[in-house]
Amino acid sequence: MNWSARAGRIAWQRCTARSLNPAIPRRLYSKSSTSSPPSPAPPPSSAPSSQPPALKKREKTPRKVIFSGIQPTGVPHLGNYLGALREWKRLQDEADPATTDLFFCIVDLHALTIPRPGKELKAARDEMLAALLALGIDPGKSTLYFQSDVKEHAELMWILACTSSVGYLSRMTQWKSKLQLADTASLTDPEARASLKLGLFSYPVLQAADILLHRATHVPVGDDQRQHLEFARECVTNFNHAYCTPADPAKGGGGGGGGGGGGPSRAMREAAMVPPEMILPSRGAAKRIMSLTAPDKKMSKSDPAPRSRILLTDDAATIRRKIRGAVTDGLGPASYDPVGRPGVANLVHMVAALDPRGRDPATLMKEEGLEGCQLADLKEFVSDKVSEELTPIRERFESYMSMPWDIKIEIEKSTEVAQKSAARNMRLYKEAMGLC
Ligand code: ATP
Ligand code: MG
Repeated sequence: MNWSARAGRIAWQRCTARSLNPAIPRRLYSKSSTSSPPSPAPPPSSAPSSQPPALKKREKTPRKVIFSGIQPTGVPHLGNYLGALREWKRLQDEADPATTDLFFCIVDLHALTIPRPGKELKAARDEMLAALLALGIDPGKSTLYFQSDVKEHAELMWILACTSSVGYLSRMTQWKSKLQLADTASLTDPEARASLKLGLFSYPVLQAADILLHRATHVPVGDDQRQHLEFARECVTNFNHAYCTPADPAKGGGGGGGGGGGGPSRAMREAAMVPPEMILPSRGAAKRIMSLTAPDKKMSKSDPAPRSRILLTDDAATIRRKIRGAVTDGLGPASYDPVGRPGVANLVHMVAALDPRGRDPATLMKEEGLEGCQLADLKEFVSDKVSEELTPIRERFESYMSMPWDIKIEIEKSTEVAQKSAARNMRLYKEAMGLC
């Protein structure tokens, strides 16, 4: 379709969407998201002068690059919000565009590790995009895009897979928890051999590729991802050793990119990966929000029990019903004891993480008169605070979901930025590896 025909279609769609739903946020109709045609195709690598200004500038000054991702495996829940997404928004709002780039990715290739009908994934992608926009991720400030729109994620995964240790991957816990196996399970277990797929097993390699594709320096994630970030750092070491270290003439091997003896070549220096740092949630004790039905498991989008999680899109009555039904204990009035009373502590962690004064859970309980109160009263208090936080997000989500075609247009430019960043970094890696 040519540009003017396409622009006409978009204008018509927007008009229709607005007339159907006056609550649609105005920003979606802003000039920046609608009026300019797509950027021309990226120039060949040998013509740096015609690179987009933002990329050219980045080569001169070392920049802070923040990357994080979320799977479209369902509507995000309170754990995603308190452990990661609220942090994305804070980082976006505090970032200085002169020194910092932010990449937030809906990692739909990761979602394929637990296959389900295409129609469901398509709907989940729309919901995730709407949820991220609703909680304030702004494609004008952050590069927001779908992983499958940037082919280099999968390409870099293969490259990193070639230097990744199966032994290391087999000790990681995610494939075991997704298959509901014990943390002590190994590749030799018959149950694991029967059900484990290569995609799920190598999930951390794709996650490392996501991070390293944009040469991220900082990765905000929940506590459950600590192991994966460690693995990404391991991938950096392996890649740099294989391709960015000059060959030792005495041994006659090692190193790529034509380094030979002596120091590293220009290609090696430019390609060398930098180990990313993890940014943990900055406020409150809610590093990991636990399931409402099993407080020894983290709250998760893919948990088969819908009552185990509070969705960002739940209304006040649903939130109250789920929290009233949360598993606690029969140990009497409320007290804060994360080891002995994990179900109660989980509820307190939620309100502590939402507390505008940033009080620690024990102090908050005392000051709010929750210490020694009935568990039913604690649950009412928690329900009120959670609803207060989530209601505006739910309302915006509903507006965005009424116009799924429009929100995709909102991230078109952002996707191009991600594609250009990926292409530029892959060129560096490939040069060092001798692939170009
Ligand atoms: P899935 O069950 O499909 O793996 P998930 O709920 O674990 O879904 P992810 O998409 O894997 O969500 O993770 C998105 C982000 O949310 C990650 O940064 C992760 O660390 C964070 N996160 C996930 N669950 C929790 C939780 N219960 N508490 C805090 N942070 C969480
Ligand atoms: Mg997960």
